[in-house]
Amino acid sequence: MDLLPKSAGKEIGEMMHHIAPRCTITLYKAPFMSSNLFIPKTCKHCGKAFTARTTVTNYCGDTCAKKAYKARKRNEKIQTTLDNAVQQSKEIINHYNSDAINNKDFLSVTEASQLIGVSRWTIQRMIQQGRLKAVTFGRKHIVARWQIENLFN
Ligand SMILES: [Zn+2]
Repeated sequence: MDLLPKSAGKEIGEMMHHIAPRCTITLYKAPFMSSNLFIPKTCKHCGKAFTARTTVTNYCGDTCAKKAYKARKRNEKIQTTLDNAVQQSKEIINHYNSDAINNKDFLSVTEASQLIGVSRWTIQRMIQQGRLKAVTFGRKHIVARWQIENLFN
């Protein structure tokens, strides 16, 4: 009993003819390839086991490769959105901090450095050299705002 029509063999043959040349080219161009090699691998997208012909194959097929690519792009987009949100909140915090500094009469070394836009070390060096007067509370140096404003007189 014939389950397949006689033409089926011919059709499969034609199909293979279409697939085979492409495979040859792909394998030929692929790095670290060996046409004799069958590497047991797990698809990085669906987790299915498959045999790869090259060491660089990560997905069981085109569908998974495309899905993985889309997922990667989506994650990149989410990451960018998150980065932007973090950046925005940093700017808000900086703005709030500078407002707070502007309303303070006594500043820490960090605040003093932010007020005039120099590094904390510069402020610390100026205190050590006696160029900027500071009062020490425990380990903390506190600078009066007018002492900083005095530097510009
Ligand atoms: Zn897969």
